[in-house]
Amino acid sequence: MTSFLPHRARVHDARLPLHRRHSALRTCLTVFAPYGLRATYHHLTLSAAIPRRLEADPDALVRAVEELHEARVLWLARAEEYAAQCRAEKWAGRRAVVNPRPWWLQSWWEGPNRAWYEDPFRHPSLRLPEYVRRQDAILDGVDLPGCPACGDERPVVSNSTGHGWVVLCRGCAWVLVPCPCGQRHRFVPETPFNWQGIWQRAHMSDDGMPNPHWPAG
Ligand SMILES: [Zn+2]
Ligand SMILES: [Zn+2]
Repeated sequence: MTSFLPHRARVHDARLPLHRRHSALRTCLTVFAPYGLRATYHHLTLSAAIPRRLEADPDALVRAVEELHEARVLWLARAEEYAAQCRAEKWAGRRAVVNPRPWWLQSWWEGPNRAWYEDPFRHPSLRLPEYVRRQDAILDGVDLPGCPACGDERPVVSNSTGHGWVVLCRGCAWVLVPCPCGQRHRFVPETPFNWQGIWQRAHMSDDGMPNPHWPAG
């Protein structure tokens, strides 16, 4: 099993070539990625301002892995608490509470966040630790306004599925009301993407700001 911390240390290691530190960040994302691997990477390019040319700001990789690490520490604490709670209930002879299923145990293809996997540009704009805190609060039964995932309170978007409607969050495309047929439908990206382009940060400039010419070029 790949472990997070040694790869986090590699991202920090200034003696390593930048491409190796960058791939260590990817390995960290295979272990923990709250928005899914590709969308979480895309999020980090923006939040940590990872430039298109890594040499322009090597510290951006450190900022990215630290944001991820901070969120993972929060998540680990909550996941351990949850596991302990399940064990205690099992001991007491009660069935483990399966509803609501904690957010980290939901599968993406049946979850309301499927769009983040089918369009890596769609995900909450929250910093990852904030997202984890928000999801944990909802799991604890706190009633938060706006989209459960990102808190967006703008009017929702309705997309036709040909035989019904899906109601989505305007910000992160979280499914607020699923199609009445009961199926989870594919989310069609507004801008066609290729992962290689995201990985090479075609959407970013060297100053760490979004590339104003993307995706035209
Ligand atoms: Zn949202
Ligand atoms: Zn349908």
